[in-house]
Amino acid sequence: MRVLVVGAGLAGLTAANDLAAQGEDVQVLEARDRVGGRMHGIEVAEGSWADAGAAYLGERHTELLALMAETDLKAVSTTMDGASRFALGQDARTPDAQSVPGRFPPLSGVALGELFDLLDEVTRTIRVDAPWLTPDAERLDATTAAEWAEENLRHPDARLFFPLFLGEMMAAAPADVSVLHMAFYLRSGGGLRYLNAFAGGAQESRIDGGAHRLCEALAARLGDRVRLAEPVLAVEQDDDGVTVRTEGGAYRGDTVIIAVPPVLADRIDFRPGLPAPRSSDRTAPGCAVKVHLVHPSPLWRDMGLSGWSVSSDGPLLSTVDDSPPGGVGVLTGFVTGEEARRYAALPPAEQRAAAVAQAARLFPGLPEPIGFHVTNWLDEPYSRGCYAALFGPGDWIAQGPGLTRPHGRVHWAGTETSTEFFGLMEGAIRSGHRAAAEAADDHLTAGSAL
Ligand SMILES: Cc1cc2nc3c(=O)[nH]c(=O)nc-3n(C[C@H](O)[C@H](O)[C@H](O)COP(=O)(O)OP(=O)(O)OC[C@H]3O[C@@H](n4cnc5c(N)ncnc54)[C@H](O)[C@@H]3O)c2cc1C
Repeated sequence: MRVLVVGAGLAGLTAANDLAAQGEDVQVLEARDRVGGRMHGIEVAEGSWADAGAAYLGERHTELLALMAETDLKAVSTTMDGASRFALGQDARTPDAQSVPGRFPPLSGVALGELFDLLDEVTRTIRVDAPWLTPDAERLDATTAAEWAEENLRHPDARLFFPLFLGEMMAAAPADVSVLHMAFYLRSGGGLRYLNAFAGGAQESRIDGGAHRLCEALAARLGDRVRLAEPVLAVEQDDDGVTVRTEGGAYRGDTVIIAVPPVLADRIDFRPGLPAPRSSDRTAPGCAVKVHLVHPSPLWRDMGLSGWSVSSDGPLLSTVDDSPPGGVGVLTGFVTGEEARRYAALPPAEQRAAAVAQAARLFPGLPEPIGFHVTNWLDEPYSRGCYAALFGPGDWIAQGPGLTRPHGRVHWAGTETSTEFFGLMEGAIRSGHRAAAEAADDHLTAGSAL
């Protein structure tokens, strides 16, 4: 059997590797001139790499850890020793960010307790395997997280912290996602406490040398079965097989796995057409800009600080120490939600000035960085989902039931098709395994009828 795989992100590469290991003939077609999709490394100093895309993982990410073990990649702990810095609610220009031991923000404990209780309450009701079947799904899917906050959050500290929390978790502005999607995302990722935690949680470690190395290792196994710079434009099915058309040519196979985010899948011309679109005009591509400030060493550690900070004024809404062990100091800044849209539109010199000035306020005495990098995922034409696609009002009810349903010889992969660890690397791998198993099944049943 010949299987064509569209997209050489983690999901597509996982599926292709599974099928190749079973002896199937596989061809991967990737639009970019690199593999990895939303897993992308940048060399911030000679031999030191930072994650411009996905970075963090935890012990519940069992498929990811298994693939890392197979490809000889190690995990490094995310450093959290030292005090955190918080600049919440005050004028961003004042230099008085607060140092606080641990990670809990210096806001009303009662307000934050109530916020997390309310989020827990709505998260608990979600049918994670089929969110559209959740009791009260229609209402939860029709309401945005912004409307939910307006209705439910009374305390000013809860109102201040909620968008920061959502930005950090999902790179979402509250108006962009439905309550159903927000609650599903939290449940799918292991609950808000697991998702939000470093030690013992979903951000416990990173892949040594960069997450992109995993995709590179999977692609290396496939060799010339991965073709780069081949954006797929059309997928045509007939009685005998499938033809995938790219700008450069046409590829014939028995089955195809589409491993791209839903918004991009809808740009492919399917013949016969899909029974329903995979996204809507309310599906948002996510709002993430990652900033890396590079120093000769992690200088904030000398100040007794962990590098972790949260600010209610941008551009750097949070920062974290992503320094490689024993090397340069890498402070990663996250710019998400509405702030990302504003920051992404600034000229590069202004982006740098704003980020460097804020870092110096947060970590007093921090000098000019020796390196500075901005990765703007908003403008990436082949990643319309950063961190992951954001399902807006109506999306789960309309698109959810069809997300994994094969369309004849077309199967679906990608983190947005996984109800387990949706949006994460772990979800991408699980979706790749599922799609490969489905395609292999097609082989046994000699292709499925439309
Ligand atoms: C800034 C950022 C931070 C993140 N942080 C984390 C984190 O800490 N932990 C975590 O687990 N996850 C994180 N994620 C999410 C994680 O990166 C994704 O869940 C995962 O990489 C998705 O893999 P995928 O294969 O489903 O999709 P993608 O990586 O998007 O792969 C899809 C591939 O398809 C290609 N493509 C698109 N259209 C076409 C076409 N028409 N023809 C051919 N090829 C096409 C794309 O170029 C891409 O290579 C983050 C993402 C971002 C952007």
